[in-house]
Amino acid sequence: METAQKIKTDANIPLTMEGLTSLAGIGRKSANVIMRETGAKAVGVIVDLHVLRVAPRLGIATGTDPKKIEKQIMEVIPEKDWGQIGMAFSFLGRETCRPTHPKHDECVLSSVCEYCKEHQGGGVNKKEKKPVAVKKKAAKAVVKPETKKITSAKKKATKTKATAKRNPKK
Ligand code: SF4
Repeated sequence: METAQKIKTDANIPLTMEGLTSLAGIGRKSANVIMRETGAKAVGVIVDLHVLRVAPRLGIATGTDPKKIEKQIMEVIPEKDWGQIGMAFSFLGRETCRPTHPKHDECVLSSVCEYCKEHQGGGVNKKEKKPVAVKKKAAKAVVKPETKKITSAKKKATKTKATAKRNPKK
């Protein structure tokens, strides 16, 4: 109500970080979202509950303070991507990097993710069995043709030997 009374009409909605955060109930997250949706140039990164979880797991931020996490993300992500990265992390958090049972084996960032590396290295996450199983399967697939080659080469050699015995030259 306070904000509505202050703004009065849509045309008066500010579209700057400073203007938006001066309104009651609007923090940096909401301001970043509004600016993104209106096509304004991003001056920050959207940090919602999902981003708060995903960024530290990835190893690009630490702590639980949204402002500090936003700052840390802005330090490692190019400015041109600030407008998209918050939503990208947020969707990753909603669909894949869930609070419990994150789907590492489906995650597009698993090869660079600190949490995933740590948990796979620790051998405590059942998901880590999958890469091992896949590796074994892949190893079999690689070995099989070689084995076939060796077997057929042996057969050929035996056949040649037998033929030579039957038809000794002289
Ligand atoms: S690899 Fe796992 S922990 Fe890392 S971002 Fe993906 S789902 Fe989250």
